[in-house]
Amino acid sequence: MAFSDHPTATPETISDLVDCHDRMLRRDPGEPEFHQAVREVLASLPPVLDARPRLAAARLLERIVEPERQILFRVPWQDDEGRVHVNRGFRVEFNSALGPYKGGLRFHPSVNLGIVKFLGFEQIFKNALTGLGIGGGKGGSDFDPQGRSDDEIMRFCQSFMTELYRHVGESTDVPAGDIGVGGREIGYLFGQYRRITNRWEAGVLTGKGRGWGGSACRTEATGYGNVMFTAEMLRRRGEDLDGRQVVVSGSGNVAIYSVEKAQALGANVVTVSDSHGYVVDEKGIDLELLKHTKEVERGRVADYAERRGASARFVAGGSVWDVPADIALPSATQNELDGAAALALVRNGVRAVSEGANMPCTPDAVKVFRDAGVAFGPGKAANAGGVAVSALEMRQNAGRESWTFARAETELAAIMKDIHDTCYATAERYGAPGDYVVGANIAGFERVADAMIAQGLV
Ligand code: GLU
Repeated sequence: MAFSDHPTATPETISDLVDCHDRMLRRDPGEPEFHQAVREVLASLPPVLDARPRLAAARLLERIVEPERQILFRVPWQDDEGRVHVNRGFRVEFNSALGPYKGGLRFHPSVNLGIVKFLGFEQIFKNALTGLGIGGGKGGSDFDPQGRSDDEIMRFCQSFMTELYRHVGESTDVPAGDIGVGGREIGYLFGQYRRITNRWEAGVLTGKGRGWGGSACRTEATGYGNVMFTAEMLRRRGEDLDGRQVVVSGSGNVAIYSVEKAQALGANVVTVSDSHGYVVDEKGIDLELLKHTKEVERGRVADYAERRGASARFVAGGSVWDVPADIALPSATQNELDGAAALALVRNGVRAVSEGANMPCTPDAVKVFRDAGVAFGPGKAANAGGVAVSALEMRQNAGRESWTFARAETELAAIMKDIHDTCYATAERYGAPGDYVVGANIAGFERVADAMIAQGLV
């Protein structure tokens, strides 16, 4: 890692960064996604470390890359044929300097400790940027929900919560959804928590159903928030989304509600994708058909293309980033957009790229966008709308209130604008105007670092 490439960093700062990075590699081998996420934050920090030697004296870097607590557990469950399966459960409680640990649960076969740590680390700074008093954590399992029946999903969730319940709580740790965990799973998890604890503790989980403590606009929040962030970036450049061609990857919750908000702002969204391939729809994605295919039938994007008729075509495999667009919203999963894909987008004239997923762009891709002057919204700022409305859900639960959709969406819009403006102003202050990666990393880091220093050696 060439921290020494930084144009202004002092030798002391570079040596602190290199020490922290090398120590992490030694102590946590085999966690490439975690290393990638840490490296990206460390690389943004030289200006703030140079300006504030007290952070170095307090060994803030070493502390911040070490989770406060890591929980690993066995999750045994039975399928519909009576066969026994054993999955692994994780909850990494990364940092609680700003509030209770907060972050989603991911159920996907790729989940391992390194993935959960990368997501938890990102979550610390993302949550700090919301300004809503939430710490960072993440969890999940290598359980694969694909093709499982409702009953199997319920039994798995019940078994998962039978261990997790002792570690979570409305003032301790508040999980929510992520890939593979939506409203149905949160329902089963909440039901089991309530049975075991004999408490109506609505604020222990977010993403609940509207009728039993969930917030309006939580389902929409990540996708809506990312498009709001994109609109703010464009506005700074005197542009907007109206009439723009947009490519979206993924077809889960984030992708669907990115399509919805982008269309509402006048954009023409022409793609969605899944692990089998992507759909190009020249007339623009038919949102109702997409929602029905994904949310009701739990089908694939190929099913959408088949029903949509002549305007849509399904491309098996291939890269959705080859489709020409003014704006790209990667909303599937980590490292889905590499350097070659970024070059293809830039060649086709992309103006803005904003991360709906967590770390979907590789470091090479981010460099391509920065060098080309493309407006780039990093996930920890751009996709913070989901966790922000989760924090609003916690607030409603604490006050036993239930807000209207309009109120929740208005608050979300204000939060996204504030995150945008904070990142923009911080980047400018630290000599990197227009660089939202630097702005997000430094602004998030400073909030957490200041709280940690004020709280003693934590
Ligand atoms: N999983 C989402 C994220 O990556 C939301 C977490 C939450 O609502 O707690 O931010």
